[in-house]
Amino acid sequence: MFAIKQQDLKAYHQIYSETRQMAKPFTYAAVAKGIKGFGLPFRPIIQGLVLLATLGIGIQFYIYVHQAATNSMVTVSRPAGVEGFLPIGALMGWKYFLLTGQWDPVHPAAMVILGFAVLISFLFRKSFCAWFCPVGTLSEGVWKLGRLLLGRNYQIPRYMDGILRSIKYVLLGFFLWVILAMRPGQIAEFQQGPYYQLADVKMLYFFTQMTRLTFIVLSILILLSLFYKNFWCRYACPYGALMGIFGFLSPTRIVRNQGHCTGCRKCDQTCPALLPVSKKAVIRSPECTGCMDCVVACPAQGALDLSTKGLTGLGWTAPALGTTILLLYIGIVFTANISGYWQGRLSDSEFALRLRSIQAPAMRHPDFNTLKRQKK
Ligand code: SF4
Ligand code: SF4
Repeated sequence: MFAIKQQDLKAYHQIYSETRQMAKPFTYAAVAKGIKGFGLPFRPIIQGLVLLATLGIGIQFYIYVHQAATNSMVTVSRPAGVEGFLPIGALMGWKYFLLTGQWDPVHPAAMVILGFAVLISFLFRKSFCAWFCPVGTLSEGVWKLGRLLLGRNYQIPRYMDGILRSIKYVLLGFFLWVILAMRPGQIAEFQQGPYYQLADVKMLYFFTQMTRLTFIVLSILILLSLFYKNFWCRYACPYGALMGIFGFLSPTRIVRNQGHCTGCRKCDQTCPALLPVSKKAVIRSPECTGCMDCVVACPAQGALDLSTKGLTGLGWTAPALGTTILLLYIGIVFTANISGYWQGRLSDSEFALRLRSIQAPAMRHPDFNTLKRQKK
């Protein structure tokens, strides 16, 4: 009688699974794994691309404003991407849209960019901060420079760190409180008002015509960022606080497989958010940015994964995550552009006209007392 031995069966299974591996179709995950094999620093590449694009947008906007202000021929268009720096306007826009169904006609791209940031931070844990935000990239560059110059970065004592981290939530709470208290009519009035129409120019002047106070505050922040990792992002950025709340609700988490972990603590040493990765089975902290630096640094195969609930077996690789975020951004901006939700409606001539009176009292930001009076 013909009998199959146990070893033969094992050998058969091994050959079968190896053949299946070799015959795997050309998949996105396989490409991503291949890129990882080349050892490309994927997150810095995406951050660098976004930073370069932001610089390009900033230069184009500077030229546009300069040409409009000097009555020269306008040879470039007003880049809508600059509205990414108007998060308060974007929050007002979203409230107005949710209550009335009307999209902000003045700075529509601000709403698109905030929507994108919230979406990726919900899907992939505050990932906007680690993968996309140009301020986050600069902040990371500064602490890395600090580490190079000083030989290390420092840590604020734990009790102090906790208190300081709450500052960004207090700031966010303040902005949300003011915006939530505004009635739709007041938001519409603000959006059509002269201040908001040139809010992006005010933002440009904030950097190009810096006051002494701004210069001092920025210098202190840069100096502190040399010593402490992501000082601004960790303690003071209300935008990051908002992303952290959505990140906390995210179905995607860093999961540590204790069976594979060797306890080397490379993840703890690498984590820019100073999280004790090696001591947790799952990272739930709102400070986790899904940067994947811990996963990349971990030498034990299968010990750390960034995985999404419901997508069992799919552990994100850094290239797959970065490419997904980039494709999402391109897709969202493209869709917003062709459907008329990206470019503001203010014409070049109207813009130039308003720019002439930018120093007028009406162009000042409505202060807190004005907003309070409007609420009554
Ligand atoms: S290193 Fe890991 S735990 Fe730390 S922020 Fe990045 S993804 Fe989260
Ligand atoms: S780097 Fe990997 S193996 Fe080392 S402690 Fe962290 S999870 Fe464990």
